[in-house]
Amino acid sequence: MASSHQAERNSVVTPGVEPTPVGQLPPVGQVPSHMHAQLVRQDRFGDPATAFVAEVVPTPDIRPDEVLIGVMAAGINYNNVWAARGYPVDQIATRQRRGETEDFHIGGSDASGIVYAVGGEVNGIEVGDHVVTHPGVWDADDAWIARGKDQMTAPTARIYGYDTNYGSFGQFTRVQAHQVLPKAAHLTWEEAAAPTLVGTTAYRMLHGWQGNVVSEGDVVLVWGGSGGLGSQAIQLARLAGAIPVAVVSEPERGAYAEKLGAAGWINRRDFNHWGVPPLVDDAAGQKAWTAEARTFGKRIWDIVGSRQDPAIVFEHPGAATIPTSIFVCETGGMVVICAGTTGYDAMVDLRYHWTRQKRLQGSHGTNDAEARAYNDLVLAGAIDPALGRTIRFEDIPGAHAAMGRGEEVFGNVSALVGAPHPGAGADL
Ligand code: NAP
Repeated sequence: MASSHQAERNSVVTPGVEPTPVGQLPPVGQVPSHMHAQLVRQDRFGDPATAFVAEVVPTPDIRPDEVLIGVMAAGINYNNVWAARGYPVDQIATRQRRGETEDFHIGGSDASGIVYAVGGEVNGIEVGDHVVTHPGVWDADDAWIARGKDQMTAPTARIYGYDTNYGSFGQFTRVQAHQVLPKAAHLTWEEAAAPTLVGTTAYRMLHGWQGNVVSEGDVVLVWGGSGGLGSQAIQLARLAGAIPVAVVSEPERGAYAEKLGAAGWINRRDFNHWGVPPLVDDAAGQKAWTAEARTFGKRIWDIVGSRQDPAIVFEHPGAATIPTSIFVCETGGMVVICAGTTGYDAMVDLRYHWTRQKRLQGSHGTNDAEARAYNDLVLAGAIDPALGRTIRFEDIPGAHAAMGRGEEVFGNVSALVGAPHPGAGADL
């Protein structure tokens, strides 16, 4: 018997409907046979500026538990820098090993748009609904989930628009129905597309790990405080009554983090103890490293106004920063990490780790409950989507290249796909 996730996909194409130019979508419910999309192909892996090329491809079919969304705007995320490089994972080859036939990748893990078609098993979502997507994907019949376990730790859990094809960098995107969330009416299309991947990830990092859930009065150290994840983590920490302290690389980024709610910021360029510290038999080197790490920790105290260490360190740079994160984390606290942007070979001095009983917790993506809880905050206007800039569909390759070079300065970036111009989509 075919499992539900293996159920055949059915065409939702409306005969005779032609692809529209980017910046337009056909009348709601009418699905053209082909669409424009930014594609990555294996022979282009490398610099995102050239790995992505706009092409015309068949509009995807949907399974009975899936939804087809006409994309108005697409959020840019770091994961498609990795997908464009084909490193550390060749997503096209990985999917082909799972039996998928496409020899291209359409990324894009954040969409705002309009529902154009729903599968036969979908309830509660109608053609014409204005929606956003969350990035957690899993098989409906996953035995782990059937046992009541966390969806995002299931063997079939994946990230939409990174692990899966037909993300939001096409005029139409294919999602599982449970990924679909209501779009906040007060946000434009590009604002609505900006924060969900990073916001739901940050929500899980701060609220998902029992025993170390963010609490009132906690100090939370947020690396990359002006970036995509950081801009959301700061706001979520504030909403929980915690005291977020940002780490940034220049004053403008610090000011942005403060605007979002950071109590203050540390310029990481004032320090140079990054990466693997001197090893345990290098006493002099360790002493110098520890002095630098203590000075960093003291900056946190200066901002907080008391000798309070971070109960949570919000990590994603990885190799460069983990030793410091573990060092400054409060006894019994948690370093929660969702990436290793600066490298994967991170070092932990286990003496401090065990005697001070700290937790180094991996975190990835979101489950449905976390995504809904985060989106409820967006719907209530409690979260600023932190849209740093809006780009055209044609600029998707260049925006990923800039992000890969660390040049994105403020918050999130959104690309207009079906939206005709910036500023559309909000009910003011
Ligand atoms: P982003 O918007 O580019 O922000 C990254 C931030 O990292 C920058 O603001 C930068 O701030 C900081 N940074 C860069 N180099 C650094 C260094 N050497 N030391 C300390 N900080 C440094 O990216 P993002 O959207 O926040 O994503 C960050 C990472 O998380 C990416 O690798 C992404 O793929 C990953 N991610 C994972 C998940 C998941 O579910 N696992 C979800 C979302 C994102 P300063 O230069 O100002 O310090």
